[in-house]
Amino acid sequence: ERIVEIEKFSAEETVETSLRPEGWGDYIGQEQIKKNLGVFIEASKKRGEALDHTLFFGPPGLGKTTLALIIANEMGSSIKVTAAPMIEKSGDLAAILTNLEEGDILFIDEIHRLSPAVEEILYPSMEDFRLDIIIGSGPAAQTVKIDLPRFTLIGATTRAGMLSNPLRDRFGMNFRMNFYHPEELSRIIMQAAEKLGKPIKHDAALEIARRSRGTPRIALRLLRRVRDFADVADEATITHERTVYALNELGINAHGFDEMDLRLLELLVQAKGRAMGLSTIAAALSEDEGTIEDVLEPYLLANGYLERTARGRVATPKCYDVLRLTPPAEQSG
Ligand code: ADP
Repeated sequence: ERIVEIEKFSAEETVETSLRPEGWGDYIGQEQIKKNLGVFIEASKKRGEALDHTLFFGPPGLGKTTLALIIANEMGSSIKVTAAPMIEKSGDLAAILTNLEEGDILFIDEIHRLSPAVEEILYPSMEDFRLDIIIGSGPAAQTVKIDLPRFTLIGATTRAGMLSNPLRDRFGMNFRMNFYHPEELSRIIMQAAEKLGKPIKHDAALEIARRSRGTPRIALRLLRRVRDFADVADEATITHERTVYALNELGINAHGFDEMDLRLLELLVQAKGRAMGLSTIAAALSEDEGTIEDVLEPYLLANGYLERTARGRVATPKCYDVLRLTPPAEQSG
């Protein structure tokens, strides 16, 4: 029997979990990743071996956890899902590892947040499937070696750059997740709407998709809100008209910007073409630098609304354009 243990999700997210794709068939987009993973999974199944340790990186909500669950499904393995902040001490990790069975998958979200002491235990476990535990302290301390079953570690991170080199080197496979095109997102939305028992017209799904920052998690959240409007109006199939109305009522920007995006872009625009450093931006928005770099900027960069230069961040002409402003005549450093 397959066991899926999920510790990291709050009750808020149970609906999201019920919309989660279970196989490649309903995992939409990320074609290159699916193709490569498919080959590696088939190869390791043929050889009867555990899959190589795998790392997914990219902004939140793009489907990293979902991929891990699909891999487990395809491999016919049990999976344990956890997140680095829940593994505080090396003993916590040791307990998880010693409870794994041959071929199991361990998924660790936010893996860049593991403490050095925990990482220290992870290296030999990943490489040699061996646990080195130090018992006692001082001159009486002893190292105990425990053999572990061959398992697969799947790590997910929003920042590949924050992973220590030795940890990164121990992953046999690395995949970078990309933002989704509106057409792909609209397919995800239509599929989820079917599962919710509330079908949605294609043009309506596309409208939500365009305002979802290229991110399935946001698209699904907006779908649920739009569905509320349709339910109240007794609309059997969600229409474009209802969707536009609902999104406007919800204050969702036509370009997919959320409030934080707008605050960042407006800040850059106010700088009148002068580049702004990350720490200045963080202070002005009262956000930490990591969130700005990992959550806020990737979408804006990928879509050409802002640029990173050696001096800092600047708003692009496209940004002025969508904010209906005129760019400064000349850019001064
Ligand atoms: P991450 O782990 O990268 O933060 P998740 O795997 O939790 O993201 O995905 C967020 C939500 O979006 C989930 O509800 C999942 O069902 C949905 N989702 C993500 N990627 C896809 C996809 N490619 N196709 C369909 N649904 C997806």
